[in-house]
Amino acid sequence: MENNECIFCKILNGEIPSSKIYEDENVIAFLDLFPVNKGHSLVVPKAHYENILDTPPEVLEKIVVAVKKVAQAVLKATESNGFNLGVNNGEVAGQVVPHVHFHIMPRFKNDGRSLWKGRNYDEGEMDQFAKKIRNSF
Ligand code: 5GP
Ligand code: ZN
Repeated sequence: MENNECIFCKILNGEIPSSKIYEDENVIAFLDLFPVNKGHSLVVPKAHYENILDTPPEVLEKIVVAVKKVAQAVLKATESNGFNLGVNNGEVAGQVVPHVHFHIMPRFKNDGRSLWKGRNYDEGEMDQFAKKIRNSF
């Protein structure tokens, strides 16, 4: 299950080089070329799925177990005490490479990398959203 146009499939088959840090039967992990902080890593399933919603549950399980292993090594190697885990799903959410991947971004005190700021619901709106989502399963 490979996509000829996909940059991560090309990394997987060795057509494009990468700084590989981990590999098992189902996933590989390599350093992001443009890190949020140095050590920023991507965990990528070997099979091509576009995003989380396309990925079968059993593959997602394997990815998440690998994410934990890789994150532990990244934190140790970078002497970081915490990380952000990110998955951009869809272009509107900032996904540039359409091959599902989990970002592990090590964080450091006062590293200047900010998180999103929360916004407010109008009166009663929170209940409406919760109801609508509950009714969408
Ligand atoms: P997305 O926005 O799709 O969640 O993230 C794609 C990530 O892949 C970006 O953080 C980008 O820096 C990284 N990236 C894009 N092209 C390459 C590449 O050829 N090699 C590596 N190692 N990372 C890449
Ligand atoms: Zn791919």
